[in-house]
Amino acid sequence: METLFKKKRTNRVTVKISAKYMNTLFRECNSVYVKTHCKGICCRNSKGKLNVTIAPREVRYIQSLGGIVKEGTLQPKTDQQWCPFQKQNGLCSTHKNPPIGCAVSPFNINANNTLIIRYRNLCMNCHKTGTIAAYKVFERSLRVMFGKRESNRIYLHLDNGGGDIMASMFKDVWEDLTYNRNIRKNNKQ
Ligand code: SF4
Ligand code: SF4
Repeated sequence: METLFKKKRTNRVTVKISAKYMNTLFRECNSVYVKTHCKGICCRNSKGKLNVTIAPREVRYIQSLGGIVKEGTLQPKTDQQWCPFQKQNGLCSTHKNPPIGCAVSPFNINANNTLIIRYRNLCMNCHKTGTIAAYKVFERSLRVMFGKRESNRIYLHLDNGGGDIMASMFKDVWEDLTYNRNIRKNNKQ
């Protein structure tokens, strides 16, 4: 099977991290909550449809899982509108290695090169009823973007009440997120 991130990655891009967004509150995002409450609703757009962009580097990997990619967008199966990898209970069947946009969720890089939280996730109940800072709930997503050492530095900085901070993101992830943002902009998603 294809995999992402085969090589040791050294190239980095500096981005700004918004402390305001990192301290936004969420509920813990775990399989129990997904199965009993949210059913993975953030995997769908406001019309209940599939909304996943796929960076060029990921296409072969997604295809190896049986996914169909058209113009940078993951396609639903013919008889449904949502993600082909989403199980009935809302969990993701690619949980250990999902598309990069999902792996870094709910974070995203905006046009000002700042790490923020996607608007869609701010509309979810897990945010509205949340009590835990995003950088804690989604620490795993920070690791995907920054690696262990850099994400630990970010985490500690925020844990000590620090404000906005510059950090070095893996260049390939940065390129994927930039590509995804442009695709969404073109599709007006
Ligand atoms: S981020 Fe929120 S809506 Fe999405 S799976 Fe986690 S708990 Fe559910
Ligand atoms: S790949 Fe997984 S995480 Fe991404 S939208 Fe589909 S079900 Fe959700």
